[in-house]
Amino acid sequence: VNKPFTQAKPIFENLYSNGFECYFVGGAVRDYLLNQSIGDIDIATNATPEEIQRIFQKTVPVGFEHGTVLVIEDGVSFEVTTYRTEGEYKDYRHPSYVEFVKNIQEDLSRRDFTINAIAMDLMGRIIDPFGGQEDLQNRIIRTVGKAEDRFNEDPLRMLRGIRFVSQLNFSMSHEAIQAIQNQRQLLEKISVERIADEISKLFSKQHIQFALDMMNETGIYKSLPILNDQEHVFMKLLSYDFDSPFEHTGLLVAFLHLLDRRISIQQWIKAYKLSNDIRNKANHLVEVYERYESEGLTNYVLYKADCALKDVMKLIHLLDEPVVDIQSVYERYEHLRIKNRHEMAINGQDLMNWFSNVKRGKWIGDFLEQIEYRIVKEELENDRNEIERLVKQWKAPENN
Ligand code: ATP
Ligand code: MG
Repeated sequence: VNKPFTQAKPIFENLYSNGFECYFVGGAVRDYLLNQSIGDIDIATNATPEEIQRIFQKTVPVGFEHGTVLVIEDGVSFEVTTYRTEGEYKDYRHPSYVEFVKNIQEDLSRRDFTINAIAMDLMGRIIDPFGGQEDLQNRIIRTVGKAEDRFNEDPLRMLRGIRFVSQLNFSMSHEAIQAIQNQRQLLEKISVERIADEISKLFSKQHIQFALDMMNETGIYKSLPILNDQEHVFMKLLSYDFDSPFEHTGLLVAFLHLLDRRISIQQWIKAYKLSNDIRNKANHLVEVYERYESEGLTNYVLYKADCALKDVMKLIHLLDEPVVDIQSVYERYEHLRIKNRHEMAINGQDLMNWFSNVKRGKWIGDFLEQIEYRIVKEELENDRNEIERLVKQWKAPENN
């Protein structure tokens, strides 16, 4: 068993020596069996959260009521969760009860897909009651138990299934596809935050194309905010040939807005309850993109793009010019006279000194922007004296 699992050895040994069972579960086992790199390590055990906290030095009760305790060992954290089942998701948000169960089989049976319902012990021995390994072989996403029932219990699983299509490049079982076709409306009952999270993940994986095809085949997009009454936006998405993932949600929102500018960034943010941080990132990208549309890929556009240059290049690549020599763009960026305002040879204080009889005000920012613009355009050296000479020719700002 490879390195991430080896790191968990002390945790297993501690649980074993206290008379408990434990297994690796979930995505880590799936990805390990697929020979892919492993993300978070989840461990399932028959120890209760209280017992877990008692036998480990460093723990954080991240989801105590769901039976999850974070155990930190050598600076690495592991989610350790008590074997459990979930009751019905009564309000479609939270399971109406969580019940601890006795054995790993029962714990595996509450999991969403067969490929996510495989357990493995420290020796690499596998427990696979639902044929997950075979489905990994056949590259197919199949629910544990009847798809209709499992999607009815938690409708988010429909989207999760499609997210795994994007992540793993798997197909979906016929039964699951049909179940989504029949009850996609249930998605409207669950919280939009959970939906947004899965959609962001879907677009942050490699095989977006297949996931979009699956969204089309199942019709699930018709139960998603905005796409439900803006079918043409979904159809546009479907026509793209995405060759790399959207690394963050701000980039995705910027792209969605640029697909149909009648739908504002704010509308996307509101409909999916996204954060201010995402909105700011999307706004910045769209601002730079629109400047690119009006003046081309000038030095000032590169400067304004700043650390988001890679994202801007992705937008240009998708929406406008499919072949840009990215390397040469980065080189140009590297050779900009300044990369941000702090690298200017002068600052706001200098301006106030040069116009000592004028009150501080909006003019300072305007002047700085003018100076920065000229430096980036290479019309002006980034040199104190030269800047001073130029600025002093300017009309003194109004004193008001
Ligand atoms: P990733 O690679 O994205 O981390 P993952 O399979 O680990 O994939 P998580 O969302 O981290 O996905 O969930 C961990 C495990 O918990 C899953 O593998 C699955 O067994 C179970 N699980 C998560 N969400 C659900 C759900 N809504 N219904 C049933 N089981 C779930
Ligand atoms: Mg995970």
